[in-house]
Amino acid sequence: MTDNCIFCMIVKGEIPSYTLYEDEDVKVFLDINPISKGHSLFIPKKHYKTLFSVPEEDIVFLKKLPMVAKKLKETTEAEGVNIVQSNERAAGQVIFHVHFHLIPRWSNDGIIKFPEQGKLEQKTAEEIIKKFKN
Ligand code: 5GP
Ligand code: ZN
Repeated sequence: MTDNCIFCMIVKGEIPSYTLYEDEDVKVFLDINPISKGHSLFIPKKHYKTLFSVPEEDIVFLKKLPMVAKKLKETTEAEGVNIVQSNERAAGQVIFHVHFHLIPRWSNDGIIKFPEQGKLEQKTAEEIIKKFKN
């Protein structure tokens, strides 16, 4: 637990939250500024700044993610669900306690749309693979 972390405070019950699901490892609660109806946050109770700080043996906290996302989809009668997870400020992370956004979606709701995609060049692909495997 980290003292000045909002999500740790939510885990401890120091800040109230509309909780959908909770067990010994995770808490799932409605986002205070929802992107869509039912937008929720799935978080580990243990504090990790980003996904990169989670040791391999602790990643088991994710085991309930599919079940919770499916239940949320059914509850909100959504047609789909985006699971969005941001690491570091450049990626849009604001709260530095690892979390997964569960965003119920409906056809043509226009909420999240990838920008126009480019074309993968062979040179770029080979460069990345080489560096990645190094
Ligand atoms: P990030 O941008 O770090 O991926 O997302 C942080 C999310 O936490 C935002 O969607 C924001 O609305 C949500 N949030 C921030 N503070 C609180 C809070 O006190 N309670 C709840 N329920 N959500 C919060
Ligand atoms: Zn925290």
